[in-house]
Amino acid sequence: MITRMSSLFLRTLREDPADAEVPSHRLLVRAGYVRRAAPGGYSWLPLGLRVLRNIERVVREEMDAIGAQEIQFPALLPKEPYVATGRWSEYGDTLFRIKDRKGADYLLGPTHEELFTLAVKGEYSSYKDYPVMLYQVQTKYRDEARPRAGVLRGREFVMKDSYSFDLDDEGLEASYRKHRGAYIRIFDRLGLDYVIVAATSGAMGGSASEEFLATAEAGEDTYVRSTDSGYAANVEAVVTPAPPARALEGLPEAQVHHTPDTPTIETLVDFLNGAGLVREFTAADTLKNVLVKTRMPGQKEWTLLGIGVPGDREVDMKRLEAGLEPAEVALVEEADFAANPFLVKGYIGPGALQANGVRYLVDPRIVTGTAWVTGADKADHHVVDLVCGRDFTPDGTIEAAEVREGDASPDGHGTLVAARGIEIGHIFQLGRKYADAFELDALGPDSKPVRITMGSYGIGVSRLVAAIAEQHHDELGLVWPRAVSPADVHLVVAGKDDTVFEGGERIVGELSQRGVSVLFDDRTVSPGVKFADAELIGVPTIVVVGKGLAKGVVEVKDRATGERTEIDVDAVVDHVT
Ligand code: ATP
Ligand code: MG
Ligand code: MG
Ligand code: MG
Repeated sequence: MITRMSSLFLRTLREDPADAEVPSHRLLVRAGYVRRAAPGGYSWLPLGLRVLRNIERVVREEMDAIGAQEIQFPALLPKEPYVATGRWSEYGDTLFRIKDRKGADYLLGPTHEELFTLAVKGEYSSYKDYPVMLYQVQTKYRDEARPRAGVLRGREFVMKDSYSFDLDDEGLEASYRKHRGAYIRIFDRLGLDYVIVAATSGAMGGSASEEFLATAEAGEDTYVRSTDSGYAANVEAVVTPAPPARALEGLPEAQVHHTPDTPTIETLVDFLNGAGLVREFTAADTLKNVLVKTRMPGQKEWTLLGIGVPGDREVDMKRLEAGLEPAEVALVEEADFAANPFLVKGYIGPGALQANGVRYLVDPRIVTGTAWVTGADKADHHVVDLVCGRDFTPDGTIEAAEVREGDASPDGHGTLVAARGIEIGHIFQLGRKYADAFELDALGPDSKPVRITMGSYGIGVSRLVAAIAEQHHDELGLVWPRAVSPADVHLVVAGKDDTVFEGGERIVGELSQRGVSVLFDDRTVSPGVKFADAELIGVPTIVVVGKGLAKGVVEVKDRATGERTEIDVDAVVDHVT
């Protein structure tokens, strides 16, 4: 393919855009790849769209290779499935909500677990149908508190999301492994330097979860890795094991309950209040009406931690906060955990407990203890383990303690070093949370229903454009790996003379015939402008056809190393293919 810059819809900028703080944002705008259209919303111009499509192609090839099948859902979704799983309320302000002309509630999909689960329920019924893996490459919407850095954190962005459906835990493990392998191949092909770190499952729920972080200063995630072992984790997920005795110091003996005896609301409230973790725990006659609040050390405000309603899962936060509505205990999942390190991530509640066992505490910096959480039926109680090793302050709150560089690695090998990264992929073993919500069962060989277990796997496709640019640039501009570059070769004609232009045309024609895509700078601007644009745009191989043509040579420049080589004009096509 030949792209002529004389007619390409492209204007490069000499100045950095005022709102751009990170290199990828600056350069993608300056080189004419993207333009801001709305807060957190970007338009893709021809060169940018090519990079995006190249990334999508690599992602699709590797997803197809593990047997995942591509489908596509709408982005505009009815609220009911999200009410059924509780995420209509749990997503909070992050969810874009819309009303149609009849007043019905819709949302713009932030992620599609609900829809995929329902789709499989709609089509499949027998154990013989499973396993199945489905994916889409689709636009997602999240009203991010802080959209930033161009396409790095958009409010509208492209995600590849896939979902696996298996009959048992071994199947889920196998699907998870397949995805992990595919992700490694994808990010390797994209030329990324990245780490795979233990992660928290956050808003998705579930157990095993890992993130792929592209190493970059501009990243919003901090991870730690051990100097001596393969241990690596997002700091959010670092679990510091602590002996219970130590962590329970400072709690009055009477308020520590180790055994899952049937609790009364009084003992529960006493315990939670006594732990200093939870301030308000109100209940009506039954344990239906539960409101749990927590406060961060040094903060005046108590934060809503848990709420819950039996039955109808749609809850009105304001009414709940006012204690007007009964609730099942569940967590506000899209809370700002960076700012509120003591928030518990995950679920506390009968539904979640059935789905996930008793493991839902992910943020490690929580007080250690055992609390009871009881469902609407008093007999239905569960033990909640709260885990931390951190110190109490005299008022019963917990001293903030970050995982720091130099701390001992939690696996006992070596010390921790910290670095920053960009979350480019996230894989989860969801388990049965969504299958439970929609009763997704397969009829087993004995005609008994088998509850399906799921995994969910995301890649930030549009974010990858910026992540790659963060790692592949210099002071002059972008330096794309060939796999994603908008062209294979950038051919610059330097000189006014017709023979030079003709020479350029000839080489471009031959390259194109050989399947090499060429960005052809055939404009009548000065060589200086052309060279500056070639550096800025960042195609990995630059061919300069100029004065040397008279001697039968052209110059080939490697954009990454800056190395220039004079090549015989007849050999140049072979040289760059
Ligand atoms: P982050 O921690 O950066 O907010 P997330 O954990 O909320 O991301 P997931 O729900 O795991 O994101 O979504 C899967 C992938 O989608 C992420 O790994 C990331 O690459 C991408 N992604 C998430 N939010 C955005 C966004 N606002 N803009 C661009 N890409 C995003
Ligand atoms: Mg997020
Ligand atoms: Mg994240
Ligand atoms: Mg994530």
